[in-house]
Amino acid sequence: SFGPAGGAIAIEARWCARNYRPLPVVINRAKGVWLWDSDGRRYLDMMSAYSAVNVGHGHPRVLDALQQQAGRVAIVSRAFHTDRLGPFLARLCTLAGLDAACPMNTGAEAVETAIKAARRWGHRVKGIPDGRAEIIVAEGNFHGRTTTIVGFSSEADYRDGFGPFAPGFRAVPFGDAAAVEAAIGPHTAAVLVEPIQGEAGIVVPPEGYLRRLREICDRHGVLLILDEVQSGLGRTGAWFAFEHEGIRPDGLCLGKALGGGVMPVSAFVARRGLIDMFEPGNHGSTFGGNPLAAAVGEAALAVIEEEGLVARSAELGAHMMERLRRIDSPLVREVRGRGLWVGVEIDPARASARAVCEALMRRGVLSKETHETVIRLAPPLVIDRETLDHGIDRLEEALAALAA
Ligand code: PMP
Repeated sequence: SFGPAGGAIAIEARWCARNYRPLPVVINRAKGVWLWDSDGRRYLDMMSAYSAVNVGHGHPRVLDALQQQAGRVAIVSRAFHTDRLGPFLARLCTLAGLDAACPMNTGAEAVETAIKAARRWGHRVKGIPDGRAEIIVAEGNFHGRTTTIVGFSSEADYRDGFGPFAPGFRAVPFGDAAAVEAAIGPHTAAVLVEPIQGEAGIVVPPEGYLRRLREICDRHGVLLILDEVQSGLGRTGAWFAFEHEGIRPDGLCLGKALGGGVMPVSAFVARRGLIDMFEPGNHGSTFGGNPLAAAVGEAALAVIEEEGLVARSAELGAHMMERLRRIDSPLVREVRGRGLWVGVEIDPARASARAVCEALMRRGVLSKETHETVIRLAPPLVIDRETLDHGIDRLEEALAALAA
């Protein structure tokens, strides 16, 4: 079509790098759980921008913080103190039960911050020779797109042609605590994993995995660092996924939803002995911890807390899981996840996950496939039961149409 939507797609295709394959829909407005295209059609957002929009689009409290703070002072860099950064980080660290945080912007930067802190801790505290620290990671991981991070990905797509990569990472099967223990050597500084692997297709490890990793890390004097950029801040029905197993990591990467659905805000949150690996001049970011980001981040945390979104995610997530598991379709191979974060695995012999997403789009529901075979269902946590049921009904229709 060469209406306004077709025009926008063509212009984007001409001028933007082709590093994504968006669904053929042009969004120009959003509110709460709803998105509208440029022809005024309404869609239910079951994607939440990869979990960046936990509080819903344009939440009034977040918008108010954004506008008020933008009008007062937005960016000064960390060359000076501001009255916003401390209160934001105090609230964040208290929620996580950790001591202090290094503010960044994107998830990948929070993970890079964790890697630097862990390596330096390995050198200074464990006596690992400088430049020799090793970090154990999981196969199927996704931690971002920097060259260091894609260097320890097991996905050829993320790596091919982008080397050389940094040494010092060892990947073991996800969910296998014994494999982590077997990989620990004298130069191991840290274990870095996602509690549930998001980009791999919402892969849930066996019950007790994090508890066992905590015990193994303690026994060997190795740091446990969790990447909760996607799983954190209510998505799984707990503030942090590590709470499901009653443990606490030494370091925690957060991002996405920390920006209240309006801007990038991330942080590496850690125990004092780890965060203190940074001294003035060692590490930083021009935009990290800016007062606009801090005001928005604090508002996002306040909304999640005061609107009870963590409990809502647990309750509606259980409902969503229950309904999805009852779907009787030859296309569905598996349904897995936790809280309002579920992956529906499609039998590739029957249909592509992309085809299901396109069929959903035609029915007014937007999500995105991950890894060709999995549909991610992750609505904003402010969704209500009736609207969630509406989305699941449309999925049932789409699956039935494709099976016919
Ligand atoms: N860690 C995890 C677990 C993620 O899911 C993502 C993004 N999908 C990232 C890190 C990277 O975040 P960003 O795209 O903001 O760099």
